[in-house]
Amino acid sequence: MTILLLADHDGNHLSDQTAKALTAASQIGSDVHVLVAGKAAKAAAEQAAKLSGVSKVLLAESDELANNLAEPLADLIVSLGGSYDTIVSAATSVGKTVLPRVAALLDVAQVSEIIEVVSPDTFKRPIYAGNAIQTVQSTDARKVITIRTASFSPAPTGLPAAVESISTAALSSGLSTFVSDAMSSNDLPELTSAKIIISGGRALGSSEKFRELILPVADRLGAAVGASRAAVDAGYAPNDWQIGQTGKVVAPQLYIACGISGAIQHLAGMKDSEVIVAINKDADAPIFQVADYGLVGDLFEVLPDLEAAF
Ligand code: FAD
Repeated sequence: MTILLLADHDGNHLSDQTAKALTAASQIGSDVHVLVAGKAAKAAAEQAAKLSGVSKVLLAESDELANNLAEPLADLIVSLGGSYDTIVSAATSVGKTVLPRVAALLDVAQVSEIIEVVSPDTFKRPIYAGNAIQTVQSTDARKVITIRTASFSPAPTGLPAAVESISTAALSSGLSTFVSDAMSSNDLPELTSAKIIISGGRALGSSEKFRELILPVADRLGAAVGASRAAVDAGYAPNDWQIGQTGKVVAPQLYIACGISGAIQHLAGMKDSEVIVAINKDADAPIFQVADYGLVGDLFEVLPDLEAAF
């Protein structure tokens, strides 16, 4: 069985999401080809080739593939699809945009955000915001799967595989157009790959207090910053900091939840963290049920003390 893995990259760098998705792909089948598509993606392709378990890297370069638009990327994958039984991607924003289109074009049902490979056609995935785990068997001849990378460790590096340039004729263009890419500018680590995350909730009360209390501690710990949806909706934190069912799913070594109640939708995004610390003034807050360490106290006192302690 040969598997096609869509790489996640920015042209120059392969994200560690690809190495994690590769671990899952290698559990589905032993022959994994990685597709690196972009305008100028040779550097990322060379990094993909060094991952252990990759038997070949397909490098597709063209103007249409410059910005990960779903239509040309899905066309490219479908044009290659005949050679592959299974097509997978990390459940990143690109993977979650492109693979449903691939599944629709192939007329198969996508299996989304798997957290475990039971067998080549059977997978576990969370439902109801992670409160139940569903075991899904796909009977489609060709399987299209996205992978929740927080559940898989990254594949190590190994002997380099061959990089083969492939033709990119007849890709859709014009159905959607790239306008701009606005990256939030800060020096904080990236949320989905951070080893430590400190998150703030509604209790912070304002954007100013969120930054005044959370950022210095994040800085001391070298942590990424997350937020509950209530904090994001209230404008205390930017949208791309949201953790949870409708935000990012993370599994850092240490997750510190500050003034977050622990609603199931928030837990869905962080409960696989190795160690969870909760700071909340309500001893009955649900977050304490998943916390390894809990501190009942007022975060407006605790966080400055914590910062001063480092
Ligand atoms: P609250 O629930 O208001 O909790 C605030 C907490 O702060 C309380 O526990 C309180 O005791 C504590 N507190 C107050 N003052 C202090 C103080 N001074 N010191 C210490 N502690 C204090 N939520 C997410 O986070 N992520 C999601 O992705 C998400 N997706 C959702 C999807 C759907 C479809 C729905 C319906 C909801 C979703 N939610 C999500 C919202 C979720 O249900 C909760 O409303 C939200 O997580 C609550 O955020 P919070 O814990 O910051 O606020």
